[in-house]
Order: sequence, then structure tokens, then C-alpha cells
Amino acid sequence: MSESLSDVLALPDWGMGFSEKLIIAGPCSAESPQQLMETAAGLEGSGHQVLRAGIWKPRTRPGSFEGVGDIGLPWLRQAGNKSNCLVTTEVANPRHLNLALEAGVDIIWIGARTTVNPFAVQELADTLSGIDIPVLVKNPVNPDLNLWIGALERLHHAGLKRIGAIHRGFSTYGDTEYRNRPNWDLPLELKRRFPQLPLICDPSHICGRRDTLQYVAQKSMDLNFDGLMLEVHSDPDKALSDAQQQITPRGFKELLSDLVIRRTGKGEQLVESSLNEMRGRIDQMDRQILALLASRMEVVRDIGDFKRLHDITIYQADRWDKVRQDRLALGKAMGLSKSFLEQHCNNVLKESIRHQTRVMNESVEKYLKP
Ligand code: PEP
Ligand code: MN
Repeated sequence: MSESLSDVLALPDWGMGFSEKLIIAGPCSAESPQQLMETAAGLEGSGHQVLRAGIWKPRTRPGSFEGVGDIGLPWLRQAGNKSNCLVTTEVANPRHLNLALEAGVDIIWIGARTTVNPFAVQELADTLSGIDIPVLVKNPVNPDLNLWIGALERLHHAGLKRIGAIHRGFSTYGDTEYRNRPNWDLPLELKRRFPQLPLICDPSHICGRRDTLQYVAQKSMDLNFDGLMLEVHSDPDKALSDAQQQITPRGFKELLSDLVIRRTGKGEQLVESSLNEMRGRIDQMDRQILALLASRMEVVRDIGDFKRLHDITIYQADRWDKVRQDRLALGKAMGLSKSFLEQHCNNVLKESIRHQTRVMNESVEKYLKP
């Protein structure tokens, strides 16, 4: 079922002139006609194709600025017309959607707080049925890849072909260096499963601050994302929402000009042959690592058998603690990161316990028969 999502269109086939990367810029929220006009004017010539602005803002706590509402739609459309770019806004329900369509919004996006709710996404999909408009789906606030895919599928089943995904990070509890943790493995897995699906990055909501935007934007380009959505405001410090993460049009231009857009190298003979040679070495090492892990598990099973014969518990905290300390120190000295080593140790522990549990609970002969 989910594989049918594979026939969505890649960006160049959207017919909107997105040949390389899709760049969306504009304020978190539309605040006034002047603010939108000024921001759009400042952005001219910066290389973006789409102007963004939130009209209805999903805020965490009531009482904060909740968007200017319906009156902002013509402001956005006019600012787009004036600066000759497409416009996009967030919709959370069929009313928003119908108003946005009537106002001539070119691209719709579904926000992170809406993607989490299959009822809400289905209502939007039903309303979009038969309408050919590009829709971008932000990841749900929680790191649930299937929920993200489910939202994309609902739109696809409604007949939409120009669908894309926006990675805006995942919410966390407590202070972290990110406002929304990127968990890059999730969007990369999405891209692995649906290589055609345009995937763009929203560094503004990942970072929640200005000084790390460049780093996250660059990282997404290095991971071969298809574009960026960035919050840009004519006077960021006075923004009514998300002030800390918004940048000026000038800052945006600098960010884009410092960005290195790398090639995949596909079809380039020299690149491919050098990469293939190095990748061949990695393939061989991976085979050795797996063979070693398998031998390690053989010893683990022997120990399990010994423990079974002598009625000894599988898990012994002090032994495991020592192993962990030793491997962490060893790996660290070899230049491996603490979090990688911790994950590796935990995986090995879990797998060892699984093997020994089987040895303990079945006869050895039965276990040895695969
Ligand atoms: C936004 O783009 O301003 C927004 C509300 O984003 P998100 O849905 O990612 O929180
Ligand atoms: Mn915002």
C-alpha cells in the first residue's frame, strides 16, 4: 500500500520551474501588508522561488499571537505578485484550505501539529480530492515515521501527485541545543523508501535560533535534501511569533550564498570509480565486522549454556558495567563518539541476552538445529 506513494512527482516535474532546489522564504506569520511587502521586496533576487507566511498560527499556549487570520491571505498574494514569486501558507482544516485556494495560494503546507492527527489530515485530503495543487507535509511533532508517511499517503490516495515532505525536527522535553531535534535518520529513511518524494528542510524550526541555521541548512544540503524553508522577516526582533529564529532578508541572502550545494556525482566516471573503490573496502570491512559479531555470539551462546548447566543468571550488572566502561574508553581512544559506542554496547547487550535467553529456555540440541 505505502509503495504506491513512490509514483509522486519529483520537483522538476512539478511544472513550477524547480530545477535544482526548492527555496521557500518568508516570515513565520503575516503581520501586516507592509511587513509582507517589505520582506518580499528584501528577498527579491535572493534565489528563492516561494514566499511563505503563516496566516493562522498554531500556538502552544493560548493568548500568544494566533495569526492575523483570513484578512492576511490577500496581503500574501499581493506580496507574491509584486515580487513575482509563488506563495505558500499553512492550512489546518478545510475552512483554511478553501480560503487559501480562493485567494490563489500556489502551494499548501500542512503543519507539524496537524500531521499528528489522521482525522484532520483525512479531512484535508478529502477537500483536496480532484484539485491539482502541490502540498508539503511537515513531519509530525513526534518522531513517528509511519505517521508522517500515513499523512502523505492520505493525500496520495486523494489523487494528489505533487506532494513533498518538510523536515522541521521533533519536539523534545527540556533544554536541548535544538528547538526541535533533527533525528536525521528519520527523513533519510523516508527518502530511502520514497526516493522521488521531494524532501525539504526547515532549519528555522529545527534550530529555534539564528546562529545554527547555516550549519543545519548546510547539513541538509550535504544529505541531498531537495530544498529549504526558512523564516525571514523584515524586522526579525519585532516579529510577533518565532522572533529568535527569524533572519533578515540580507541574512538570508548571506546564508544562501555561503551554502555549498554539492553534486551526487552520479554518472561522473572519475567520481564513481573512486567512490566504488573506497566503498569496496567498506563492504569488505562490514563483512569482517559481521563475521566477528557472529563469532562473538557463538561464545555468548556457549556462556549461556554454561550458565544454564550451573543455574547462573544471564544478566550480571557488574560484569556488564565493566564491559561497557572498557569498550567506551577503548572506542573513544579510537575516535568513535560516545553516543555511537553507547548504542553499540546496548545493542550487543540486548542481542547477547536474547541469545542466552534462548539457550536457557530450550535444550541445547534443539537450539543448535536452526
Ligand atoms: C511554521 O512553519 O511557522 C510552523 C508553525 O511550523 P511547524 O508546523 O513546523 O511548527
Ligand atoms: Mn514559525
